[in-house]
Amino acid sequence: MNYGNLRDRPVDFSSHGEWSLCPHCRYRRLVPHDELYGRAQDCPGCSLSVGPGKWQTGASDLILTSADVRWVCEVSWFHTSVHRVWPPAAAAAEDRAVHLGTYEAAIESMLYRMSAMAEHDQQFYLHRVEVPDISVDPAMHDDLGEALTGFVELNAVTSTGYQGLRYINEEEQKGSISLAVSPRAIRSVQSVAIPAPGLSAVVTARTTDCARRYDADRAAAESTLLPVDRENPLGRLDRLMGTTVSARRLRERDHRMWSAIGELFDGLSSIYVADVAPGLRERLEDAVRATLAVGPAAGSGIAEVYRRYAGLIVRSSEVLALVGAVPASRPTLFD
Ligand SMILES: [Zn+2]
Repeated sequence: MNYGNLRDRPVDFSSHGEWSLCPHCRYRRLVPHDELYGRAQDCPGCSLSVGPGKWQTGASDLILTSADVRWVCEVSWFHTSVHRVWPPAAAAAEDRAVHLGTYEAAIESMLYRMSAMAEHDQQFYLHRVEVPDISVDPAMHDDLGEALTGFVELNAVTSTGYQGLRYINEEEQKGSISLAVSPRAIRSVQSVAIPAPGLSAVVTARTTDCARRYDADRAAAESTLLPVDRENPLGRLDRLMGTTVSARRLRERDHRMWSAIGELFDGLSSIYVADVAPGLRERLEDAVRATLAVGPAAGSGIAEVYRRYAGLIVRSSEVLALVGAVPASRPTLFD
C-alpha cells in the first residue's frame, strides 16, 4: 500500500480572534484578541459577565468535533520534534501516546519549545504523518495538558477502546483539533529538518531599513558611554539602582538597547506576520530572541534568523511541498 498521499489541509495562520466558550453557559463566539484579556464582556447567550481571561477555548470548526471521525483518516497530520526519526523508540518502549496536530499547531509548538524549554539550539524536524487506518473515539476529550510538546500515557488513549482520541488544542493554534494516538496507529512518516534552507521569508527594502535603523540606534546608545563605563561595567543591580553616575549611564544605555531591539522586532513583525494571531507573533519573536547569542549582533543577522523562522509561516505551501516529497516510511520499531 502506498502512503504519503493523503491530502494536506489548507494552512491558515491568520486570525481575527479566538473561538471561545462562555464559562457559564458554553455559548460559543469569536472573541477578538483585544477583548480576550481586556475588560469584562457580557455573554450574548446568558447575559452574565465574563471576566478577562475567563473565556474557555472553543473549537474553531465544529464539523471537526462531530461524532463522524472519518476525516481524521483522510488528512495528513503534523508533529515537530528534535528527533530525526520519529516517533522515537522510547515512545513504544515506554507505552506512551504521541500527539498529532495541524501544521500550524506543530510550527507553533516548535517556536514555543525553542524559548520556553530552551531548545533554541536544537535541530528540529517537521514530521508529516498519516494514520489512514486508525480507530478514533467519536467522543471529544479534554486537552491532555502537554499539548504537542510532550507524551501522554498510552493508557489514557487506549482505555477508550480506540487507538486515538481528539481534543481541542488550547495551547497551539488555539481551537484547532489535535490527536493523542497510539504510536502503533501511525502508518507513515515523512520528515524534514526545519527551518528549511532556501525557504526563508524574503528580504524587502523595509527589512534592510529596519536592520540599519537598529544598528544606528545601537551605535548611538553605545556612544553615550565613557571609557570608564566600559572598563568597569558594574553589576546588574548597580545598573538597575543607578548607584553611581557611571551606573546611571549604563542603565540609560541598556534602556536604549532594549528599546532598539524592541523596535527591530516590531518592524519585522509588521513586515512578515502582521495578520497572524498575536500569540503566535510573540512566540516567533521569543524563539528568535532565544537564538541570539549573548552580546551584540548586527541587525541584518537578527533579521536573517527571523526570516528563517517566519518562512515556516509565510512560505508554508513550499514547506508542505518539501516534506510531501520525502519518501514516506512506515515506522518499523513496532514490528
Ligand atoms: Zn453565557
